[in-house]
Amino acid sequence: MITKPATAVENSGNRKLGGASATYVAQGSCPITCAFLGAGCYAESGKSGIATRQLARAAAGATPAALARAEAAAIDTLSGRRPLRLHVVGDCATPAAARTVAAAAERYTARAGAPVWTYTHAWRKVSRASWGPVAVRASVERLEDIPIARARGYAAAIVVDAHPADGRAWTAPDGTRVIPCAEQTRGRTCTDCRMCWERPDVTIAFAAHGPAAAAVRVSLG
Ligand code: SF4
Repeated sequence: MITKPATAVENSGNRKLGGASATYVAQGSCPITCAFLGAGCYAESGKSGIATRQLARAAAGATPAALARAEAAAIDTLSGRRPLRLHVVGDCATPAAARTVAAAAERYTARAGAPVWTYTHAWRKVSRASWGPVAVRASVERLEDIPIARARGYAAAIVVDAHPADGRAWTAPDGTRVIPCAEQTRGRTCTDCRMCWERPDVTIAFAAHGPAAAAVRVSLG
């Protein structure tokens, strides 16, 4: 039972993350412009949905700034020895919130050198610089947004309705390479793959499942 608006776990126990640490933050931290908020966000269904609802109850209308402080405090409880995935649910909707979490991420990496990575739907409003050392990807919903996000200094991630049948990388119209998530195509874990934080030069594609599929705008035909 989650009783705080933000929580951190040393070993997420998540099959995809592969033993990474992780934080979970109430969706009040997310930008209200997110296309998936209340409309197919993967954190709103299944087991994740239970945690998301408990976080929301604990948050009780807390502001993005307060939620960022709660997430930073949660990060400060971790050992810093594992790669850290920020907000499996949640985001930083304002520059100040991103700076608060980035400062905690910097303290995290200083403890043992482990990387911190995440994705944001607030990339149009929050500068890349606000995230400091966090390996953050702009979550874009349209191929034409990839160069816009890159021009703002962000690496990108995009949700597609399906990966190519052979799971191979492809080239977006702006010329960037798009690589399907290795967990979805090859069963690797994030701690083994590391692409999301080590390859800012490429865009990572995630295939949507369940309710999120309806919200996906990108089809590979
Ligand atoms: S591409 Fe690799 S690091 Fe990124 S989410 Fe997939 S498995 Fe994890």
